Amino acid sequence: MLKNTGNCFLLIGFNKVDKDIYMKTYDVIVIGAGHAGCEAALAAARQGANTVILTDNMDHIAQMSCNPAIGGIAKGQLTREIDALGGAQGIVADLASIQFRLLNRSKGPAVWSPRSQCDKVCFQRAMKMLLEEQSCLDVRQAQVTGFIIDSGMITGVVTELGDKIYSKSIVIATGTFLAGLLHFGMTSLPGGRTGDSSSEKLAVALREQLKLRIGRLKTGTPPRILAKTIDFSQMETQGADREEEGFSHFELPPTLPRTIQRELPCYMVYSTAETAELVRRNIHLAPLFQGKIKGIGTRYCPSFEDKVIRFPHHEKHHLYLEPEGEFTGEYYINGISTSLPPEVQIQMLKTIPGFEKAVISRYAYAIEYDFIFPDQIDRTLALKHWRNIFPAGQINGTSGYEEAAGQGLLAGVNAARFAGGLETVTIPRELSYLGVMVDDLVTKDIIEPYRLFTSRSEYRLRLRQDNSDLRLCEMAKDLNILPADKYRMFAEYRNQLNEAIALSKTVKHNGKTIFAHLKSLMGTYREGCPLPCPIDVLKIDLKTWLGRKIIRQLAILAHYDGYLEREEQSVSKLHKLENWKISENFDYDSLSGLCNESKMKLNKVRPMTLAQAGRIDGVTPVEIALLQVSLTRMLKNNNGK
Ligand SMILES: Cc1cc2nc3c(=O)[nH]c(=O)nc-3n(C[C@H](O)[C@H](O)[C@H](O)COP(=O)(O)OP(=O)(O)OC[C@H]3O[C@@H](n4cnc5c(N)ncnc54)[C@H](O)[C@@H]3O)c2cc1C
Repeated sequence: MLKNTGNCFLLIGFNKVDKDIYMKTYDVIVIGAGHAGCEAALAAARQGANTVILTDNMDHIAQMSCNPAIGGIAKGQLTREIDALGGAQGIVADLASIQFRLLNRSKGPAVWSPRSQCDKVCFQRAMKMLLEEQSCLDVRQAQVTGFIIDSGMITGVVTELGDKIYSKSIVIATGTFLAGLLHFGMTSLPGGRTGDSSSEKLAVALREQLKLRIGRLKTGTPPRILAKTIDFSQMETQGADREEEGFSHFELPPTLPRTIQRELPCYMVYSTAETAELVRRNIHLAPLFQGKIKGIGTRYCPSFEDKVIRFPHHEKHHLYLEPEGEFTGEYYINGISTSLPPEVQIQMLKTIPGFEKAVISRYAYAIEYDFIFPDQIDRTLALKHWRNIFPAGQINGTSGYEEAAGQGLLAGVNAARFAGGLETVTIPRELSYLGVMVDDLVTKDIIEPYRLFTSRSEYRLRLRQDNSDLRLCEMAKDLNILPADKYRMFAEYRNQLNEAIALSKTVKHNGKTIFAHLKSLMGTYREGCPLPCPIDVLKIDLKTWLGRKIIRQLAILAHYDGYLEREEQSVSKLHKLENWKISENFDYDSLSGLCNESKMKLNKVRPMTLAQAGRIDGVTPVEIALLQVSLTRMLKNNNGK
């Protein structure tokens, strides 16, 4: 099915070759088939680049290493952006969904965030099939151990079996696998995650062949337990959000695997004072507290022992019990990630209501891994010193499937563009959370795993989950990453919406425009709920999905009327600064008036624009003004020549 929908555009500078199935020369090689790698490979291939994705285990493609869910605060917005850019994560999450909810419903629509509980196996199978069916894309099992360097250029990769595969550009998306070390109490084992070996040789190659600066980060995962051993009657049930429709703006491919049970419940429970006391008594067995783990973990997603020590006044902590799928008895306990030894984990669970007899199927553990300090990449995700190499995902210091997938998509776009001889692109910060994340990564000091929050954006009212298609589909079409049928569907929606907006702002009812009446909906339209005035003139059929989508958008626009215009004004100010490009070899040291610390930071980040320079921590507005004066002078001199 997919094969026939023309998913491969063949538009940019690639020669259509009569491809040998065992071809060893590609436009793009993607190393790793996790969340970043899959999006990268699909995005490169959608542009017509001959692409191969290499992974050390074909059965673990797009594995959810930690929680069986996609989305959440800011992450859900990002998944919807990926979808608007023609990516796969939203589609696959919708296919694999076993419970969908819109979080933050009690707050304004700008921060509503979709989240889907997923069947892990269905997620993997659907993503694997998408890769296999994508034209211009080969999927192969191979572990990459190093790079081929020819005359100072990286021209390909070497695999553990000694195979050499050549390409014009490479995406590296190896997640937590680089020199990965798993910690179960004081026992440590090498691994990329449980059940997968770590990537040792590639970790060495990044340091020794590519001479990259590498750091160590840490994350962790909770235990999984068996349903038949849980007493659910002691827990609060959390059901699905029946009204919401999922992540994707488009129709789901009918040939891919899909879950049957779409509304499985989750459960809520609290740990007890006894659990905390047990942790305190055994803290000497936690590798993090014994200095055994050197990698830096996340403050916002602490391990259970971290919570107990840092918040001693909290007697109990909230835990969520989430099903791992529809055909499995395993449950994931969100909120109790730990690196304490298995025997302590068993005791901890016995202190929690409903888990007294729970049997652990997989023990919790922490993992340490290598990452590339992201100040070595630019906003196109290219390495500054190896322009045809694009790292993406956890390797760049982020955490989370959504953050990985977003970067993968951008890396895939640019790897293909580089291979096709086209200029690489950046995604603007004011247009997307993807832009916010990439800009933050390359501009700010990354001292712990980076994850998205809505508060990271200056333009939260604009960057909503409901309008990611309006923000990004046009750009995706221009980049040749949005298939024609999807673009047609989007264009039809946009036309009808624009018509409805125009009519609602001109047609009046009882002396007030329809648009003004819609303000009383407070940004929310629920199916079947009464409207503040008749809207027949808008020609919207509320019985259809499209009609409901339009009225919801109108309700949100009316709710933020005035505020959005103000945000637009600050975006245009930002645009002005973004237009001030700074050359790659700008001499900051010779600029008088900059303090030494700012010079050091500017030299390290090498911002692409004046706006980006202004976002570097510690660089002051006065210094930006000085930089602007210097750029003006240079511009004048250049024009004068
Ligand atoms: C124990 C654990 C706990 C986690 N906890 C959280 C959490 O609480 N919250 C959160 O948001 N995220 C968490 N994560 C992180 C989440 O799994 C990642 O953010 C996400 O999977 C990153 O996607 P990725 O594509 O960068 O890498 P991954 O999904 O890890 O994929 C990496 C891919 O690269 C392949 N690969 C590696 N080396 C090679 C090689 N040399 N050759 C070929 N293929 C290779 C692997 O086989 C795999 O397919 C956790 C991960 C682990 C392991």
